[in-house]
Amino acid sequence: METRCALCDAEMETTKHVLLECHFARMVWALAHIPWDVVNGWTGDAAGWFSRVLCRLRQEGTPHFLMLGWALWRNRNRKRMEGVTWEPLRVVNDALLLLVQYQDARTKLRLGIIR
Ligand SMILES: [Zn+2]
Repeated sequence: METRCALCDAEMETTKHVLLECHFARMVWALAHIPWDVVNGWTGDAAGWFSRVLCRLRQEGTPHFLMLGWALWRNRNRKRMEGVTWEPLRVVNDALLLLVQYQDARTKLRLGIIR
């Protein structure tokens, strides 16, 4: 069964649409300063696209990109399951918060503060 995009209601919802093609996703990538020529270019499936983008990003941009992808998907789920819509900038901030929490946990693990 095909479903329309929960965010724009203009296109059929596919992973490609939610993460890349939807105007909402495009705004998130732009607000996060991820260059369009880096994220544009879906190849096969989501795993192929993630791999392609990760090859194009410098290493320091990798966690940021992954958290943005997760935040976009989380936002789609929030809209679909709770009917709640966040603005694109809030999704970008959500990704940054996830990134900070991830890096904090990695630091604490490295220092032996947590196991
Ligand atoms: Zn859409």
